[in-house]
Amino acid sequence: MALWIRNPLAVLAEDAGGGIVIDGSRIVELVPSGKTPQHPGAEVFDASEHVVLPGLINTHHHFFQTLCRAHELARDKELFPWLTALYPHWSRVDRDMFRLGARLALAELLLSGCTTAMDHNYMVYGGMEDATDIEVEEARALGIRATITRGSLSLSKKDGMVPEDNMVQDEDTILADSERVLKRYHDTSDGAMIQIALAPCAPFNVGKRVMRESATLAETHDCRLHTHLAETMDEEAYCKQVFGYRPIDWLEDCHWLQPRVWLAHGVHFTPEDCRKLGHHGVGVCHCPTSNAVLASGFCKTLDLEAAGSPVGLGVDGSASNDASNLIEEVRHALMVNRLGYGSSQRITHRDALRWATKGSARCLDRSDIGEIAVGKQADLAMFKLDELRYSGSHDPIAALVHCGASRADRVMVAGNWRVIDGLIPGFDARKLMAEHSAAARRLMP
Ligand SMILES: [Zn+2]
Repeated sequence: MALWIRNPLAVLAEDAGGGIVIDGSRIVELVPSGKTPQHPGAEVFDASEHVVLPGLINTHHHFFQTLCRAHELARDKELFPWLTALYPHWSRVDRDMFRLGARLALAELLLSGCTTAMDHNYMVYGGMEDATDIEVEEARALGIRATITRGSLSLSKKDGMVPEDNMVQDEDTILADSERVLKRYHDTSDGAMIQIALAPCAPFNVGKRVMRESATLAETHDCRLHTHLAETMDEEAYCKQVFGYRPIDWLEDCHWLQPRVWLAHGVHFTPEDCRKLGHHGVGVCHCPTSNAVLASGFCKTLDLEAAGSPVGLGVDGSASNDASNLIEEVRHALMVNRLGYGSSQRITHRDALRWATKGSARCLDRSDIGEIAVGKQADLAMFKLDELRYSGSHDPIAALVHCGASRADRVMVAGNWRVIDGLIPGFDARKLMAEHSAAARRLMP
């Protein structure tokens, strides 16, 4: 039976003041203010206390890092010393810890209004060969949409790099397993719940053959490509020293200056880099909190968008955020961009919400999500303004961002309620927290 989300307090959609009609997994009608649906016999959900947003879409994360939050080794450092401090601990993550980290990150995202999760997982090594499969299982169990990447590390301490030697795989193994998980899980159909992308980790820990052959595999299997790029000036110095050129030249050399690619961070791009990325349709995931915590800088979101690049939003891993909360990230995106660009650019809460919805959908090359419109998937994030922080607020949509929303009241994914009254039905959060925090203490005593 169809469902009419009736008369929302506010909705981020054109001409839908009277609500949204859902049938199956899709939005079938937008109802103008004061009207009733043309769709017959719809069941009614009274949304008069809800602010309704398109489901938020995360485009960069490392789920397992929820085990490393606010640890003294990770705090108050820039990227390279942070990585050097953490990799020895990461090398001891086992399958059980990894599964708990993923489950917790996914639940936290869902409760924050995220309907499409993403993980950039490079933790695929001896004993962890089925890490991609574990993440797919956990996303399916929660009913959240997800792009899971098959990440990779091929250069380690023995090559003069930072990852521990047990964390890398040889290039043939990486490429063979990339093909395995693409064949097994990657769904290119409209409304897909699980997609796979290929995500070699970064210029300083993966070889060019993996990059180039991943691009070939992506062409064959019609999937996206993702990596970290231009996060810090240390990375730029590394590229100049080792390759004799800058990170964007490495991207080009690896055949990755193309529209299948979206990058994490993209902080240190020149105006010429932005033009080049835009020209080639390369997307960028902006990670404002992580960039602020590691003092990396800020992404030139408006310049990239103006040049033609999709710009999405990501919480990044929980060793550098340390939350997996996407609606909070929207607020941080507004603040960081205001600081970075100054007041003359008039960046508003709607820009930050656009990055977390339409922009992120473009990064993942999804035309079926990211927007409340007829024919799109019924992915919704619904918030109540019934906390002290909202009292006295005027514009309900601006209030979510400016007053600091952190938890959705209702979340719908593909027409199914996955969060009701701020809780995930059938999900024992207390039990998970007990197991997850015990795993975190085992990993980083
Ligand atoms: Zn990252």
